[in-house]
Amino acid sequence: MAFEGLAERLQSTFDKMKGRGKVSEADVKEMMREVRLALLEADVNFKVVKKFVNDVKERAVGQEVMKSLTPGQQVIKVVNEELTTLMGGEESKIAASRKPPTVVMLAGLQGAGKTTTVAKVANHLRKHHNRKPLLAAADIYRPAAIDQLETLGRQLDMPVYSKGTKASPVDIAKDAVEQAKEENCDYVLIDTAGRLHVDEELMSELQQVREAVDPDEILLVIDSMTGQDAVNVAQSFHEQLGVTGAILTKLDGDTRGGAALSVREVTGVPIKFAGTGEKIDEIDVFHPERMASRILG
Ligand code: GDP
Repeated sequence: MAFEGLAERLQSTFDKMKGRGKVSEADVKEMMREVRLALLEADVNFKVVKKFVNDVKERAVGQEVMKSLTPGQQVIKVVNEELTTLMGGEESKIAASRKPPTVVMLAGLQGAGKTTTVAKVANHLRKHHNRKPLLAAADIYRPAAIDQLETLGRQLDMPVYSKGTKASPVDIAKDAVEQAKEENCDYVLIDTAGRLHVDEELMSELQQVREAVDPDEILLVIDSMTGQDAVNVAQSFHEQLGVTGAILTKLDGDTRGGAALSVREVTGVPIKFAGTGEKIDEIDVFHPERMASRILG
């Protein structure tokens, strides 16, 4: 599971402090040094680590900690709160348009988990919000993606709009929205094409789809196993497409978790969901506070 190494290191650092009645300035310094190393080792972006450590220090200094009066527990509380803030603070819900259907476009690199995630989010919307989604197969360059989405649609007994690989993604997206209106579907989830790397052609196509259907959400699907690179990918997509949220996949793998901890801070967009397995129901709404508590034990 993600964050195991980080959680272990932070917890052992804090365990040393927990029992103490008083914490000196030197103790806090030492503790923050350990926190810094633990975050870097977990592959958190170095700029993010720097800011995080400074924020915690600043707040800890503002408290009585420096007067050697406050228990170590209080510093841990500050770290917990800052970790929550780093991951976005509040839970961020998926958009719901007042004028249905709500159009959600999913973007990301090939293999990030887009197609799977389209079905997972659709299932989540139906199960927990009683919504009726339509899935749109606009990844025309990977023929298997269309089959995959159709298979998932059948499994879920949900409509899938596809026009094969010959139609343009723009037309597929536009027609899917029309189809959703006809079928009284209140969400359209568009699976878009990915590439191995960010390139101009991909971005231009995604921009055209965006222009054509004016999505309520553009969710970037990020493979958390890709570490630091995930941050660069997120930045490029955000700059060129203006994403409204992120979904981290494969948090069940042995990722060190750095991406999860950096993406929000670097892009400023909220993480909305976390994928935790290959099965259709293995997706969770991303709760920064719960995640922070899980890391800190
Ligand atoms: P796409 O190219 O972005 O559409 O990616 P796919 O949806 O085809 O997913 C690529 C692979 O990642 C597939 O084998 C999925 O089963 C797998 N996958 C997607 N999300 C998760 C996840 O949260 N956890 C795990 N373990 N595997 C995932």
